[in-house]
Amino acid sequence: MALDATTTALYNDIVRRNPAEPEFHQAVSEVLQSIQPVLERQPDLRDAGLLERLCEPERQVMFRVVWTDDSGRTHVNRGFRVGFSSALGPYKGGLRFHRSVNLGVVKFLAFEQIFKNALTGLGIGAGKGGSDFDPSGRSDSEIMRFCQAYMTELYRHIGPQTDVPAGDIGVGSREIGYLFGQYKRITNRFDAGTLTGKDLVIGGSLVRPEATGYGVVYFVEAMLAERGHSLEDKTVVVSGAGNVAQHAIVKLKEMGATVVACSDSSGYIHDSSGIRPDVLHEVKQVRRHKLDGYAELVPTARFVPDKAPWDISCDVVVPSATQNELGEADAVVLVKNGLIAVAEGANMPCTPKAIDVFHEAGIAFAPGKAANAGGVATSALEMRQNASRDRWTFSDTDEILADTMRSIHNACLITAANYEKPGDYVAGANISGFLAVTSAMNALGLM
Ligand code: GLU
Repeated sequence: MALDATTTALYNDIVRRNPAEPEFHQAVSEVLQSIQPVLERQPDLRDAGLLERLCEPERQVMFRVVWTDDSGRTHVNRGFRVGFSSALGPYKGGLRFHRSVNLGVVKFLAFEQIFKNALTGLGIGAGKGGSDFDPSGRSDSEIMRFCQAYMTELYRHIGPQTDVPAGDIGVGSREIGYLFGQYKRITNRFDAGTLTGKDLVIGGSLVRPEATGYGVVYFVEAMLAERGHSLEDKTVVVSGAGNVAQHAIVKLKEMGATVVACSDSSGYIHDSSGIRPDVLHEVKQVRRHKLDGYAELVPTARFVPDKAPWDISCDVVVPSATQNELGEADAVVLVKNGLIAVAEGANMPCTPKAIDVFHEAGIAFAPGKAANAGGVATSALEMRQNASRDRWTFSDTDEILADTMRSIHNACLITAANYEKPGDYVAGANISGFLAVTSAMNALGLM
C-alpha cells in the first residue's frame, strides 16, 4: 500500500535522520504502510507527534567492549542496547552477537520488537542489543571474558523493571549465564528477572529454549487449519540450524510433517527422508560444527555448499536464519513449486518484494513479529516465575505458549478483517501491535 503525503514526509524524515540504516528503514516502512487504513479511519492518531515518537527510540546506548583472547591479544568490539519503547512494560528483547551487528540492525530489531511484544499481551516493552563480536571459533573462556566485558558496561542500563535482555543470534543460555554471573557480581543482587533465557539451574524457565521454534509451528498449525490443512504429511523447508530451527524441526516432525532441509552460513542439507533433530543437535550444539558435519554422519543427506534451500519444492517454508535471506526470485521459485504457507522464524527474513510475491499468489504468510513471538512470550513467563520465585511444569508452560500463539494468530486475522485486509497477517500483526502500543502511549501522556 502506498503512503499518503503526510506519512511519506514522515518516512523521508526518518530516512534522513537515520542515515545508512537500511534494515531500520525497511522495518519502519512496512509498519507505516500497514497502518495507513488505521490513520484514514482515526486521523487523530497522528496528533501529539505520536508516529514520530513511535519511530524514535527512547534511548540508545553504544559502548566499547575490550577483552583479551586466549593468546593474550586485545580486541575492541562495539556494544549496543536500544530501548525503543517502554509504553507497555520494561524494555524487552534479545542480544545478538554477530559480526553484522551495527546500530541500524539493532534499531530494526528493537522496532520490530515493539509490535511483537505488544501482540503477546504480556506487558512487555521493546528493546534489543548486541555486539559486532564474532563468536565463531572462540573458546569457552573467550566467550566468557567477552560476556563479562560486555556486562561491565551494560549492567548500569538494565534491571527487572527497566530493561530485560535475552538471547538472539550468537547468544544462548551459556552466554546468558556468563552475562548474569557478571551482573550479579557487580550489583551484589541475585535479580534473576534481569535476564531471560537463563539455564534452569540459575532461574530459567522450562520451554524457553524450545519456545520460539515450537511457537512458530503452533502458528503454522493455526494458519493451515484456517485453510483446511494440517501439518500431517506436509513437506517443510526450514532455513537456519540454530535455536529456532532446531526446535521447529522437532515440533514439525512431532506433528507429522517431514522437514527435508535446513541450512547455516556454510550451505544447506537436503534429505528427503527427513532431517534428524538428534544429529543436528549433536553437530551444532555439542560439536559446534558447520552443517557439512551432518552429511558425514547421515549417508542419505546431501550437503550443498554456499547456497540457500529455496529451490527445494515444499508445502511450507520456515525461514529461521536471518534478515533478508529470502528474496523475490526465491519466492517466485517456491510459489512455482507448490508452496502453501510461510512462517518467519527469524526477524524479517523475507524481503518486501518476496512478501509481495507471496501475497499476490495467495500464499498464507506470517511475519516474524507474529509467528516468532513465542520466544519473547515465554521470556515474559520466565520473568513471572522469577518475580514469584516459582517454577512451572513443562506441560503447563507449553500450554500457555500454544494458547498465546493461537490468540496472536486469531488477533491478526480479526484485525486484518476489520481493516478490509482479510487473511493478511502482516496488516493484522502491525495494526494490532500499533493499536496496543499507541493506546498505552496516549494513556501515559506526552513522553
Ligand atoms: N530474540 C528473541 C526475539 O527476537 C527473544 C527476545 C526475548 O526473549 O526477550 O524475539
